[in-house]
Amino acid sequence: MSQRTFSIIKPDAVRKGYTAAILAEIEKAGFKIIAIKKLSISKSQAEGFYYVHKERPFFDSLTSFMSSGPIFPLVLEKENAIADLRKLMGATNPANAEEGTIRKKFAGSIEENAIHGSDAEDTAKFEIGYFFAGYELA
Ligand code: UDP
Repeated sequence: MSQRTFSIIKPDAVRKGYTAAILAEIEKAGFKIIAIKKLSISKSQAEGFYYVHKERPFFDSLTSFMSSGPIFPLVLEKENAIADLRKLMGATNPANAEEGTIRKKFAGSIEENAIHGSDAEDTAKFEIGYFFAGYELA
């Protein structure tokens, strides 16, 4: 049964010109791109997106980074999309990411790690709704 997940190509990857290469990896892995857009978000919009991390020591730095330049939010679909995207992304810290993963290839640091992917069904639902309206997903 097909499942949807949410992803972001983060500002570091966009700045370095990796957007198309990352999208190619995603499509090659069998994901269908349901929706995509380019936008820049404010610090407070980044704080709203990452509110679950608000008590973490990296929250201020992370939300400054995420509002530092254009990003590409994405809605992706395939069987087992949530878990499969997490696997394709690799570990949060690229130093620990497996060979062949997007973070191994494109991430620069534990913070500037190229890509976001939802970690569960409820977060995927919240995150898709944070960036896309229903009519963009039909
Ligand atoms: N992050 C960070 N420092 C850390 C852990 C995480 O800057 O020590 C950032 C990083 O950009 C990461 C995001 O916060 O992708 C969300 O953290 P999470 O633990 O949810 O990692 P993910 O699910 O993205 O692998």
